[in-house]
Amino acid sequence: MPRTAGISAGQIKCLTHIAYYILVRLIHGNLRIYIMYIHPAQARQLRTFVIASILVASAPSAPAHAEEVGECRFNPETLTFAGTPVEQATCLLRHVGLLAERTPQPLPPVLHSLLESDRSPSAAAKEAALAAFPEPYQTYARDHAGDPVAHTEAGLPALYFVIHDTSDPFYGDDPFPPDLDTDLRINSFDSYMNGTFAAAPVAHIFLSRYGQIWAGHEFQEPWRATKLESFVIGPNARGRFVHIETVQPRRFLPGYSDRGHTYGPTPGFSAAQYRQLAALYVYASARAGRWLIPAQHNTVDAGIPDAHDDPQNFELERFAAEIEKLVSVDKAGP
Ligand SMILES: [Zn+2]
Repeated sequence: MPRTAGISAGQIKCLTHIAYYILVRLIHGNLRIYIMYIHPAQARQLRTFVIASILVASAPSAPAHAEEVGECRFNPETLTFAGTPVEQATCLLRHVGLLAERTPQPLPPVLHSLLESDRSPSAAAKEAALAAFPEPYQTYARDHAGDPVAHTEAGLPALYFVIHDTSDPFYGDDPFPPDLDTDLRINSFDSYMNGTFAAAPVAHIFLSRYGQIWAGHEFQEPWRATKLESFVIGPNARGRFVHIETVQPRRFLPGYSDRGHTYGPTPGFSAAQYRQLAALYVYASARAGRWLIPAQHNTVDAGIPDAHDDPQNFELERFAAEIEKLVSVDKAGP
């Protein structure tokens, strides 16, 4: 076991376990410094990241922006990204390409009009979403249909609907199986349920490629699944985001053997996943009493070091088309 000056390997292991959950935040005038100890695989060594915020360093006399975090400019006080809901969604729904390369894309008209309106999903749209759910989740969702969604400690309601891909199972150098959408290993929820993937379910919802849904946490439970929430803002942010893990396997990019260089299949998600993702969006929005702002894990954390690159190969137009079907019940005449 390697040693680091004056600290035993045992102490390092203990420290890393503790430090994994701790973000030390220092504020020197307008310059914010984050020191984050990451627990590396097998506790080999303690790594220290010092992140100086270029946002604040470059704007010492701009207090209105001094605290904003990341590319979509999250305000730690209001727990809101910058701009109108349409502007926020436009930033948060940029296309996330290979190795997390983000490129702008137009906001689909249906999302534009929903987010611009001050209405919430109609009772008919909510029922259409509920009816789209498979059992047993449909019964579970109906049981909670009248419950509120999560709130933060300060009382702010959930506002962001965050789409992830699980990046799991991980195939390394092995090829993807031939039929991803029916493969039993890929579509098993076991690793999320039995604690081998994490000590607790990492998201509110897990969505398999054949459209089955497992609720790791009910939508009213404040939960966190991004670096922005866990390491930068901290517990105050819990409850502002709901998280959907959408099953998608990964493997190494040719010539690479580290988890920073992986890719997912194309297409990234199944038709059933887009259909259920839209139903979950309408359902969660109905419970929130407003159209939630869709977001992606990568874009929420964009600008924070080591941001995850998910979801990969997410087709915004297909998600929007499924939302459009669910809200079309409002246009249907008697
Ligand atoms: Zn994620």
